[in-house]
Amino acid sequence: MRHPSFLAALWAVLLCIGLPLHAQDNAATRTLELPASGKPAARGGLQFIGNATVLIRYGDLTILTDPNFLHKGDHVHLGYGLKSQRLTDPAIPFDKLPPFDLVLLSHLHGDHFDQLVQNKLRRDVPIVTTAEAAKGLREMGFEQPQPLQHWQSIDIRKGNTRLRITAMPARHGPPGGAVALPETMGAMLDFGGDGKTPAYRMYISGDTLVYEDIEEIPKRYPDIDLALLHLGGTRILGVVKVTMDGKDGVKMLQLVAPHHAIPIHYNDYDVFKSPLSEFQQEVKAAGLEGKVTYLRHGDSYSFRSKKP
Ligand SMILES: [Zn+2]
Repeated sequence: MRHPSFLAALWAVLLCIGLPLHAQDNAATRTLELPASGKPAARGGLQFIGNATVLIRYGDLTILTDPNFLHKGDHVHLGYGLKSQRLTDPAIPFDKLPPFDLVLLSHLHGDHFDQLVQNKLRRDVPIVTTAEAAKGLREMGFEQPQPLQHWQSIDIRKGNTRLRITAMPARHGPPGGAVALPETMGAMLDFGGDGKTPAYRMYISGDTLVYEDIEEIPKRYPDIDLALLHLGGTRILGVVKVTMDGKDGVKMLQLVAPHHAIPIHYNDYDVFKSPLSEFQQEVKAAGLEGKVTYLRHGDSYSFRSKKP
């Protein structure tokens, strides 16, 4: 547990150097310094908890993505009075999670930040997310949302471990606001390295369709080591597609060209209409089987960075 006065000081500093919610992507990158624990960098890994919830470890840092810890049979809210039922259990209950340093949140939807997490997550944990979600989180009493516009970055330091998180474009639905879905971001996680070339680069798609802005990602961020793809082919009212289905997942793979990929967000809710088998068939047809690892809830994946 961090010392409260340290946190107050940290927050005061962040407030002083903090950027306005609508800062441009060329604005100065903030730095968030966290207390060290002294573990060596260069080794990393992740554990898939369920839906889009993943525990990512690299050196000294542990990151929790899109925390969703409701259980099978529980309902989440998706706006418009729409609800969706969870079909799976998280691999680890919220109360059994190991300590983590920050939360990375793609958007504020019930299947990514649920009511249990709203109640139980400690108020001082930094949450890197969209401006819209940051506003909602502040209203819920969270003290350290870290809003990012698409292409804007935040640097995280903990002991010798370095991480730069950059918000990637994502659009949770069709163009033109036909369905008013929340502001959403993908994320590029550049671990370690010399400031120019990361030691390990991980892309998390967030809930998005493949659209023109995604084409910019591999131009600005080539050489992605690992991509976590939010699939599911989610359909609102059974009709409007708001996340990638199996075909879109392969299109995304071909576009951002990661060395390796892991699908997540594929079987947890009754609004998901594209089973993982559809993605598997498309991967096979595209000859990309060697690039994809399939994780079940609770499974882990480890990686070693290219540089020490
Ligand atoms: Zn979702």
